[in-house]
Amino acid sequence: MCAVALGLAGCAGPADPGGPAADAGGGDAQPSDTATADAAIAPLVVRQQGLGRLELGTVELEQGSGLGPWLRFQLPPAARSVTLTALAPGVGLAVGQWQDGAGALQVVPSWLGGPLAPWLCLTGCVQRQAARPSQHSAWLVAEQAQQLPAGVWQVRTFGFDPQKESPISAVAKVRVDAVFGADSGKGVLRVNLCLTGALGITAALAKDHPRIQQAIGALQAIYAAAGVQVEVALVDVAVPNLLVEHDAADGELAELFATGAKLPMAINVFLVEQLYRTQASGTQPIAGLAGGIPGPPLEVGSPSAGVAISLALGPGEDDRLGTVIAHELGHFLGLYHTVEAAAAGADALQDQLADTDSDPKWLMHWSPGLGSAALSPEQMRILRASPWLQPVP
Ligand SMILES: [Zn+2]
Repeated sequence: MCAVALGLAGCAGPADPGGPAADAGGGDAQPSDTATADAAIAPLVVRQQGLGRLELGTVELEQGSGLGPWLRFQLPPAARSVTLTALAPGVGLAVGQWQDGAGALQVVPSWLGGPLAPWLCLTGCVQRQAARPSQHSAWLVAEQAQQLPAGVWQVRTFGFDPQKESPISAVAKVRVDAVFGADSGKGVLRVNLCLTGALGITAALAKDHPRIQQAIGALQAIYAAAGVQVEVALVDVAVPNLLVEHDAADGELAELFATGAKLPMAINVFLVEQLYRTQASGTQPIAGLAGGIPGPPLEVGSPSAGVAISLALGPGEDDRLGTVIAHELGHFLGLYHTVEAAAAGADALQDQLADTDSDPKWLMHWSPGLGSAALSPEQMRILRASPWLQPVP
C-alpha cells in the first residue's frame, strides 16, 4: 500500500454520518453503558501460543451512516495486541468507532470527516488505521512492557463505497484476534513465496535462482535484526493474471490472493510480472502491495490475505527485490511509512513513532533503496506483536 496516503491525499471525506454515534463538534459520543448490563458479552479465550480469536458475528452496516451496531467482547489481562478484522466483499471497510477495556475511545467517529477519510485515519485514531476494500484489519499495540486494558471492549465497523467514498449499507463479518504475554524479543515468521510462473520461475527453479535466493537472503537479514527468523517455503500457484492492477476496489488483488487458499498457514507473498495502477496520466508501475496495514491475521486465501510483488525491472534499475518484499511484509505486519513523499509546499506525513525520521536508511521509507534496511526499536516492538509471529521453538 505504498500509495495509501499520497495517492488519496486530495480525496474529500464523506459527510458526517450523523445519528446518535456521530460527533457533534468535538465531543465524540460515548457508547451507552449497556455493556455492563449486557448478560452475554463473549469472552476472548487465550489459546495455544498466547493467541486468542473470537468471532464477533455478522452485522448490518446502516444505510446513511455506514456504521454497524456496537459489538462487545471481554478481553482478559496481558494482551499485547488486539486486531479487528471485517469481511464484506466489494465494500470499503474501516473501524468507525472503538472503545477499549478502560473506557477510552481509541477511534472516534469524527475521523470520518477528516482530510484523508475514509482511507486513512490520521486524527481521531489513537493508533493510525488504513481502510481496505473487501477485508480490513485494524489493530492496537501496547506500549513497551505494557499491556492493553482488560475489560469490555466495544467496536463499530464502518462501510463505504470504495469508488464513491460515501457510506453504504452492507453486511460484514467481524472477528477479533489478540496476542498475549510479554515480548520475548524474538519470533518466527512463516512466508510462502508463491511462484506464479512470472518470468518462467517455478518453485523448483527458484531453489537455485540467483535473483530469488539473493532476495530471500536480504529479507532474512533485515528481519534477523529484529529477532525475527523468516522461514521461506517456495510454492507454485496458478494465478489468473501475471499483470495485476491496483485500484480502489482491488478486485484483481483479491483474485490473486484467493489462489493461496490451500497453502499451509503463512503470509503468502506472490511474485507477479507487473503491478500497475492506471490513472488519467497513464499507467504507473508499482513495486509491491500489501493486503493491509496490518493484513488479516492467520488466514490464507481471503481478499486481503497476501502481499504482491512485481518482478519487473527497468533498464539500469537496481534490483531491490529482497528490500521490497521486506518492506511490504512490514506493512502487512502493521508498519506505516516512516515518511511519505512530501507534496509541493507541504510537510511530509511521518509515522506515529518517536524513534524514526525521514532518513532513507529506514526499510519503511516511502521509496526504499538498496540501502534501506533499518528497523527502529519501536518498529521491532510492533512487528513482534503481530499474531503472525510464532514463538521461537
Ligand atoms: Zn510502502
